[in-house]
Amino acid sequence: MSDYEKFWDAPAETLTREAIRDLQLKRLQSTLDRASRSEFYGAKFKEAGFDPQSVKTLDDLCRIPFTVKQDLRDSYPYGLLCEPRDRMVRMHVSSGTTGQATAIFYTRKDLDSWADLVARCMYMAGARPGDVFQNLSGYGLFTGGLGFQYGAERLGMLTIPSGAGNSRRQIQIMRDFSTGVIHIIPSFALLLMDVLTEQGIDPREALSLKIAFIGAEPHSEEVRQRIEDFYGIKAYNSYGLSEMNGPGVAFECPCQNGLHVWEDAYLVEIVNPRTLEPVPDGEYGELVMTTLAREGMPILRYRTKDLSRLIPGDCPCGRAHKRLDRIQGRSDDMFIIKGVNVFPIQVEQVLMNIPEVGNNYQILLRRQNNLDEMLVRVEVTDRMFVEDMRRLQGVLKKITHDLKGELLLTPKVELVEPNGLPRSEGKAVRLIDQRDM
Ligand code: AMP
Ligand code: ZN
Repeated sequence: MSDYEKFWDAPAETLTREAIRDLQLKRLQSTLDRASRSEFYGAKFKEAGFDPQSVKTLDDLCRIPFTVKQDLRDSYPYGLLCEPRDRMVRMHVSSGTTGQATAIFYTRKDLDSWADLVARCMYMAGARPGDVFQNLSGYGLFTGGLGFQYGAERLGMLTIPSGAGNSRRQIQIMRDFSTGVIHIIPSFALLLMDVLTEQGIDPREALSLKIAFIGAEPHSEEVRQRIEDFYGIKAYNSYGLSEMNGPGVAFECPCQNGLHVWEDAYLVEIVNPRTLEPVPDGEYGELVMTTLAREGMPILRYRTKDLSRLIPGDCPCGRAHKRLDRIQGRSDDMFIIKGVNVFPIQVEQVLMNIPEVGNNYQILLRRQNNLDEMLVRVEVTDRMFVEDMRRLQGVLKKITHDLKGELLLTPKVELVEPNGLPRSEGKAVRLIDQRDM
């Protein structure tokens, strides 16, 4: 296979580490120059006594002040623009996982390079011109809709903007148009599994799916496995955030071992969230990102709050772009119960390894008699077996035992019949903390 068949953008994807670093320095310098024109960075640089001209090597990166979500809120709506407002042609907002949303603006050129990055990701994972692509992502202000739409059109796929929700219609569309490639958030992919099962449809027989791009919310390897096994497809992890355009920031290659960060477009750092000092590759910490190719609204050293690590070593696919490990969760999602730090994804890993556990669960934190309590509510796979007390007790014991092994505390576990737990249409809400209510 020639390089031009393997790569969407061979010149960018085959850059050596050295070439990546050279390009990054050049782009960082011009990004700094651009950023200092914005009201926000102009003031921030002055306040921090930082001279953007003083960046001479990539090691100088650590002198650039961080940007946090609150900065974006404080300069809402236009404070980070470094081009006149009338040069902006699109706006999105962050999904507001936490607190007030923030607005992101794109020039025509920004949209063009974003579409190209998304196309690059999908092509890398095996999507090809002519494929039928169904985007089961919310459209509108959320970036997963139009972000994938334009990327897929750029790639040359027949793109169906089916949007989020409406499971039965989604399945009908998949059947009518022989959809081969989908983009879907993992919790919706799990929900759709239940609907297909209810309808007695085996997707391996009745559908033509081959690839799914799953992302936009934390999910475990176990969830990926379930999705791949049930649909008979390959599922690739897609990471992005609106502050860095949206999807197209980091994506899995066919090796499925980490997500390549497109380092020609983004500078990636992992820092210790307490000291904010960079940590070496291989160590976990907070992901910090800088845009290198955005003209309307560059963002420097953005603290994503997402926790992960960079995987050391080379990827067998040949791309030198660093690999980000699966996101462990957001630092905001971590909760402390009885002195133990817990990420929802740890609970998910345990649950999804138990075959009797269905596709939906919820973690409830509450205070009972002044004591914190963690209740894990779990849907079971089979309605019939809710009536089989002995089996039920066995599953309950197994879940409690395995969770205790992982978390080192004993949660309460409650089994719920299939479809017994609430579903959300966008990103799943897995954690409900009622302790301060
Ligand atoms: P938004 O600002 O609406 O684009 O949401 C971005 C956030 O979604 C990120 O900061 C992550 O917390 C989360 N996210 C996106 N993609 C993934 C992924 N593949 N795995 C885990 N979390 C993700
Ligand atoms: Zn690779």
